[in-house]
Amino acid sequence: MSQLPTLLDDALAAAAPPEGLYIHIPFCRHRCSYCDFYTLVLDEARAGEFVEALLAELAAWRARVDLSAVRTVFIGGGTPTVLPEGMLERIVAAAREAAGPLEEFTVEANPATVDAAKARRLGGLGVDRLSFGAQSFDADELRRLDRIHDVDAIAGSVAIARDAGFDNVNLDLMFGVPSPADQPAPPGALERWRANLAAAVALGVEHLSCYGLTYEPNTPLTQRVRMGRVTPVDDDLSAAMYRATLADLRAEGFEHYEISNWARPGRQCRHNLIYWHNRPWVAIGPSAAGYLGGVRYKVAPHLGRYLGSPGDPPLVDVERLDGAAAAGEAAFLALRLREGLDVAAFAARYGADPEALFAEPIARHLRIGTLERIGGRLRLADAALPVADSVLADFVAAAETGGQRERRGAETRRGD
Ligand code: SF4
Repeated sequence: MSQLPTLLDDALAAAAPPEGLYIHIPFCRHRCSYCDFYTLVLDEARAGEFVEALLAELAAWRARVDLSAVRTVFIGGGTPTVLPEGMLERIVAAAREAAGPLEEFTVEANPATVDAAKARRLGGLGVDRLSFGAQSFDADELRRLDRIHDVDAIAGSVAIARDAGFDNVNLDLMFGVPSPADQPAPPGALERWRANLAAAVALGVEHLSCYGLTYEPNTPLTQRVRMGRVTPVDDDLSAAMYRATLADLRAEGFEHYEISNWARPGRQCRHNLIYWHNRPWVAIGPSAAGYLGGVRYKVAPHLGRYLGSPGDPPLVDVERLDGAAAAGEAAFLALRLREGLDVAAFAARYGADPEALFAEPIARHLRIGTLERIGGRLRLADAALPVADSVLADFVAAAETGGQRERRGAETRRGD
């Protein structure tokens, strides 16, 4: 059996079994201008080698840990549906065989990369949720984002999914798409975003993920901003777009359950809830990040290295989260959810009273109205959602400070 870093190997001995399986497919038809995911332009020869290495990695995990508690599978990327004929189907079949009885099996796709036959094959193999990267129903925006599909392909893909029997479909949408530098802040940007939302709702999908565009280092889009060729949407407009999303999707009966995610009742993404509830999952494929036995790890984001050691890829960023760091991470994740942080359950699970650990940010954010208490839970107030990252950062910082106090206390005790 392949070797794991000692930290992870030791953690597995006492680890709760993983509940989710994430599989990263590092290929796309081409790269979008804003994307910083680990993905390469599809090379069919290497794709075949990749699938063999991926199946070997899955087999190695099956030999190490009990995967029978895995109840959700998510194949993402990249664009899993660009893999040549039969390859994705092999991965789906292997994942199903490895996992326990599944509650949800999602495959990510781009519009125009799933035809009727492929959708039927995936459904027949047990995939029950398709997630399409629609991003925008505005043709100009799709061009500016360098997307491979046009507007019509979005409705076409949803129709193909429905015809194949999928009753659980997500669309990813993106707000805050920048405009060319010679047309800064084009009038009607907010209304165009609301038209995007309306178009998505009209397709009758069960789930919407709406993200504000972010400028990641070293992407072509960020380069264009630096060169003055495009003008980012300003923060006020971006916040207005987010607030419009809250209002419009609520009016349409969607439940807002995470900062960037909305679902029809009962259609929350169960796989992503495993992340936000800080439950354990296994991740395979280059750049995939997993969490087992309190240890986070990431498969090295490098296809060459991945293919060079089939079944035993190098892992990076292997880190055990203990004590205050684990509690800080858990609070960060729990507060992303609209259900919020259950104070008693949190204290029982992490052995730390959140009211004490986060006393300062809780008091401050309750006072200024960015946090609210509902029964035994704490959650972000609606007003805080457009600036959620800064509020959540205060909780992480408080946990770090608490961790330093813990360490200083331990040093003092050792010196006594
Ligand atoms: S399709 Fe998705 S993963 Fe691929 S380059 Fe575009 S944004 Fe990135």
